[in-house]
Amino acid sequence: MSDFHPTAETVPAVPGAYVLAVALDRAAAGLPPGRYLYCGSAKGPGGLKARLARHMRKGKAVRWHVDRLTEAGRVLGAWAFPGGDECALAQRLAGAGFPVPIPGFGSSDCRVCESHLLAWPEGAGLPWEDESWT
Ligand SMILES: [Zn+2]
Repeated sequence: MSDFHPTAETVPAVPGAYVLAVALDRAAAGLPPGRYLYCGSAKGPGGLKARLARHMRKGKAVRWHVDRLTEAGRVLGAWAFPGGDECALAQRLAGAGFPVPIPGFGSSDCRVCESHLLAWPEGAGLPWEDESWT
């Protein structure tokens, strides 16, 4: 289980991984309108809290591929996984059947995952909302 954070206020300032939920009302960054899940990690100063605050802030300089998504869309919030691994999260979602809209999106440094961005179809339950998920 993981708590959902609509803002970065309640996110712990520790290293770990996160899944960011973003809604696109119109096509942007090569993606059609829809809901998306981006798996990332934060290991620097401020940890998850600082990274998620950056994702949720508008008007930032576009540094990463995902910045184009968060600038164009609405960040709905994020799940934080202190000590977690972004690749494990991405692979868990892909394994649960979440589609990969753009191979390589957000995972250019990663040789294991097809993508760190997955589409979130309406009605699709998230693996970590299952009590048995660890
Ligand atoms: Zn990966």
